[in-house]
Amino acid sequence: MPDTIYALSTPSGEGGVAVIRVSGPGVTDILRACFPNASHIEPRRVYVGKLRDGAGEVIDECLWFYMAAPRSYTREDVAEIQCHGGAVCARRVMERVASLGARGAMPGEFTRRAFENGRISLSQAEAVMELISARSRAAARSALRHMETDGPMKRARAKILDMLSHISAADDFPEEIDEPVVRDEVISGLNEVVRLLRESADPRSARILREGAQVALSGSPNVGKSSLMNAILGWERAIVDPEAGTTRDVLAEKVAAQGRLFTLLDTAGQRTEAGRVEMAGIQRAVEAEKSADVVVAVLDSSRPLDPSDEAMLARRDERYIVAENKCDLPAGRERVQGAMPISAKTGEGVEALTREILRRTEVADQENILTSPRQIELAQRAMSEAESAMAALEAGDPVDLAAVYLWEAASALGEITGEEATEKVIEGVFSNFCVGK
Ligand code: GDP
Repeated sequence: MPDTIYALSTPSGEGGVAVIRVSGPGVTDILRACFPNASHIEPRRVYVGKLRDGAGEVIDECLWFYMAAPRSYTREDVAEIQCHGGAVCARRVMERVASLGARGAMPGEFTRRAFENGRISLSQAEAVMELISARSRAAARSALRHMETDGPMKRARAKILDMLSHISAADDFPEEIDEPVVRDEVISGLNEVVRLLRESADPRSARILREGAQVALSGSPNVGKSSLMNAILGWERAIVDPEAGTTRDVLAEKVAAQGRLFTLLDTAGQRTEAGRVEMAGIQRAVEAEKSADVVVAVLDSSRPLDPSDEAMLARRDERYIVAENKCDLPAGRERVQGAMPISAKTGEGVEALTREILRRTEVADQENILTSPRQIELAQRAMSEAESAMAALEAGDPVDLAAVYLWEAASALGEITGEEATEKVIEGVFSNFCVGK
């Protein structure tokens, strides 16, 4: 019989309410002992009552409810007790629960029980963690979808297992099942699986969903990069100075706009005749520009283009958005084609620029995108096995040779869903959880 476990499910510290969660076979006995005045305990009803210690002294007045197995988070009997927040009440409630035979839960142990009792898959358990640590609405939305459906990896694995059973049937009954038919079936099935895996295991989309996109502001000194960063952030973060070369390092700020997150990098102005300290900053700016998801190439529309503006325009690729800043001043030349007119000073065009940044960093099919690095690695492994199987079939190898690769692919996918995960893998997943979840 499993232990009965308890944990504080809300963050410790001062707060209006603290929630203590208890799960396991001892729950109803514990509730009866804690709330001796409760005449009966019905599941899914909210009770108000005085929680008492062993001597009958009141510890706190609580709101509590009971969920009977298997209709609970863990599929075991579960109770949640809401007591007053702060240092004393929650600790005393936990001491009381512990004195009645429950033990403190390990990190993620409630979710682990949900997994072990078959209520959720391993990837769904990981999604719970993603939801808790989500830093933007988009990341939370994606985690919620992963929690609700087991998604594409389970489908891909089922499809592969299906192909494997066809292959083995063709092997067992060669007179009844035509090998070329099975071969065609497997090739078309594999095409579908590889497409699904390629869409889902996209590290760039995963990173953008999880951490937000990296957006570098690039351009010559004094074009207004720091001012633009402030305009986007809406507050004075970067040092704005009319003297050239004030931004000597890369400043990074998280921006949350329309439920999405991105990191804005204000880089040192790139120019050739700079001092040593400034050169180091410029080097970092070059790197930030190279690795960014989006580069906002800032120009000063009130003056002619200089050689470093020209160089920046020459190296631009599809990640670049050209912004003509200082559009509040009289134009000093013709506007660069396709550039967005903005003014960091008056705010004109800044919202349109932010919208364009968000549009460029949109993750298309959030439903299928895997966000956990562990899952991405396994999906990529499955994809490369599926591709080897395809190559073997296309080269005319016998189907049962392709089956070897398919077993490997199915096993990698089984590690994602938990159907084939080893104890060590499972331990690793749950060790990242917080206590109380
Ligand atoms: P950076 O070196 O590219 O980071 O440029 P700064 O943001 O430090 O700005 C350089 C100078 O240009 C400062 O004096 C700013 O006040 C001025 N500036 C920046 N943006 C605008 C703008 O949109 N319009 C006007 N008129 N001046 C601006």
